[in-house]
Amino acid sequence: MAAAADPVQPFGRRGLCPALSAPMQTGDGFLSRVAFEADISPRAMVMLCGLAERHGNGLIDITARGSLQFRGLTRESACSLEKDVLALDLPLREGLAVETSPLAGRDDVEIADGRFVAEEIRKGADALALQDKLAAKTSIVIDGGGRLSMGDFLADIRLKAIRLEGRTFWQLLLGGSESKALNAGLVEPVAAASVVLSLLVFLAEKGPLARGRDLDQRTVKAVCGDRLLDRQAGSEAQPPFLPLGVMMTGESRFAVGIALAFGQVRGADLAHLCERADTLGIKALRPSPNHSLLFFGSLSACNALLETAVAFGFVTTAGDARSSIAVCPGAPGCASAFLPTHKLAAFAAEDCAALLDGSFTLHISGCGKGCAHPTPSLLTLSGSSDGLAFSISGRAGDPPDGILPFEQQKTSLSRLARLYEKEHKPGENAAIFFARLGREEIGAALRQDNQ
Ligand code: SF4
Repeated sequence: MAAAADPVQPFGRRGLCPALSAPMQTGDGFLSRVAFEADISPRAMVMLCGLAERHGNGLIDITARGSLQFRGLTRESACSLEKDVLALDLPLREGLAVETSPLAGRDDVEIADGRFVAEEIRKGADALALQDKLAAKTSIVIDGGGRLSMGDFLADIRLKAIRLEGRTFWQLLLGGSESKALNAGLVEPVAAASVVLSLLVFLAEKGPLARGRDLDQRTVKAVCGDRLLDRQAGSEAQPPFLPLGVMMTGESRFAVGIALAFGQVRGADLAHLCERADTLGIKALRPSPNHSLLFFGSLSACNALLETAVAFGFVTTAGDARSSIAVCPGAPGCASAFLPTHKLAAFAAEDCAALLDGSFTLHISGCGKGCAHPTPSLLTLSGSSDGLAFSISGRAGDPPDGILPFEQQKTSLSRLARLYEKEHKPGENAAIFFARLGREEIGAALRQDNQ
């Protein structure tokens, strides 16, 4: 009798769950990623944490976009992980990445619930088999305009809900982050999914290298026709909102946001937090943007879980210096890294806490790729073959403002922090202080020119 066909075909299959079935080689072995389209239970998360310990090196990342990563896998254990994760029957994201806020549908300040549009796009893309024809990293963001801003997410195609003259419209934005995207115009809710699908079909016909950023206004108009309304609305930048601490998201609806320090945690530690959540009667959680987890439950359960999270060393307030640092895994986790980024980040959180006041993001990158923070940052430090490159108001890959010897990295940061502590005016936060100081002075402090 022929052996039953193994339903799992790991490595390279571009089907049900590409990242899980096609793990990526990194510095600490293979890495597998999963994303969820709905809540999972704390118990399910405990099981995932167990799988991270059993099959990988026990480390779990939650990415800036809220995906879960298992690290330190071997070729064989990555296959076993895939089988075991699929066996849990969780709401894994399948096919095209169409992302909504984890608060969508339960956020009393959102303008529209993006889940329905997202679902229509997913179904349409599946029916047209678009995923295999599009660039592998094609991403669609449906932002209902709620508490949790998705403006920093890079997206090929973005729909952002807006209110205009008492009516709801979707603003169509193409390429990059919200602030850098082409504002292509407004779409009626009834046409929102079909407009996105038409643009996806157009990109698919152009081939697997075509991206949303390649679209210009004339092309978009030609593809969308009358569905693109003959009116514009400015794009309003939403203040950043870190999903941390206990929040009321609607009448008698509560959530508590808890983030991982530098986006990473030991599976065993996360399992303890989730076991506590389960004991408190919390039934649902969602890995969320900014390396966080949102747990949904009663006010008393959320408050009690917050206390546990503080005791376990998780990040629970925006004032925590660690939440002002965007840091990639670095060495040894990533083979491209020139420095152990988490060590420098831990030092900065400890030594430069006053400077890291939440007014800007310190980006520490293992190399010029800048995975942790693709958009510009007031101060970016990135590893290079020549030393630690620093860039003021730039990205990791931009031509640097200077390069520091690696052995100077801590003293340079300390010097900048002491300068802020000594010279900032009352009420002046770090971002305003840096703006007053200017690029030259910041560079001189980092280079320790006056030493
Ligand atoms: S920025 Fe460079 S070092 Fe950091 S994770 Fe990305 S590729 Fe690796």
